[in-house]
Amino acid sequence: MRTLIISDIHANLPALDAVIEDAGSFGQVWCLGDVVGYGPDPNECIQRIASLPGIRCVKGNHDAAILGDIPVQAFNYEARASLRWLQSELHPENKLWLGELPERLELEGVTLAHASPRNPVWEYIMDIRAAEENMGEFATRVCLVGHTHFPYLFQLEAKTPDTIRRSLLPEDKPFSLEEKSILNPGSVGQPRDNDPRAAYLIFDDEDQRWTFRRVPYDIQQVQERILAAGLPQRHAARLAAGW
Ligand code: ZN
Repeated sequence: MRTLIISDIHANLPALDAVIEDAGSFGQVWCLGDVVGYGPDPNECIQRIASLPGIRCVKGNHDAAILGDIPVQAFNYEARASLRWLQSELHPENKLWLGELPERLELEGVTLAHASPRNPVWEYIMDIRAAEENMGEFATRVCLVGHTHFPYLFQLEAKTPDTIRRSLLPEDKPFSLEEKSILNPGSVGQPRDNDPRAAYLIFDDEDQRWTFRRVPYDIQQVQERILAAGLPQRHAARLAAGW
C-alpha cells in the first residue's frame, strides 16, 4: 500500500489538491499538522483532509493556537493577524475536528509529531544537535516531523553510531531508511526552502521505500485570495519564492 505524507498545509487548498492529484493512488494518509494558519482556505482544507482515505493526523502549533492551547502572543505580529482572521472564519465543526487531533501518534514502525517527538507542537529540528537530542525520544525506526517547512533527513550513521548525518531529500529518487531517522516531508502550502512548489512524501510498504516529490500549483490565485481576505501581504509574497 502507498501512504501519502503531508505537512504544513496552511489553508492552501490549490497546493493540497495539486499534491493529491500528483500522488496518484494511495491507501492512507499521514498528516503532520498545521492544516490551518496563513492561507485563505482553512475550512476547505480541513474538510478535504478529513475525507482522505485512512487519514491519521497530528496537531500543529497553528492548529493548537486556534483552539486556545497556545497563547496567541507566542506568535509574531503577522501570524497573529492570520489567527484572528481564522478565529472568525473557522466553522465550529472544523474547530472540533482540530480539537480532537492528538499531539503525537505511534503507528507501526513510524512516529508522527508536528514539531519534534519530545515537544510535539513547538520545537524546531533544524540542526544536528536538536536531532541528536530527539533520537532517543521515539521507539520506532522513523519519526516523521514537519514544522520547519524544510524537507530533510536526519539519520544515525550505521558505521559510527551516535553520529548523525543531515541530508536533503532527493527529488523523485526512491530511498530506503535502514537506520533510525527523523524525516521531514517539507510543506504543502508554504515551502521555505526557496522552492515554491508544494512538497510531500510517498511511502510504499511493499518495497519499504520513500519518495520525495515537488509539484507546482497556481500560486497567483492563492496570493490574490490572501489579499482579498485582508490577510497580511507578506503571507502572499512569500509563496512566490518559497521563503
Ligand atoms: Zn507550519
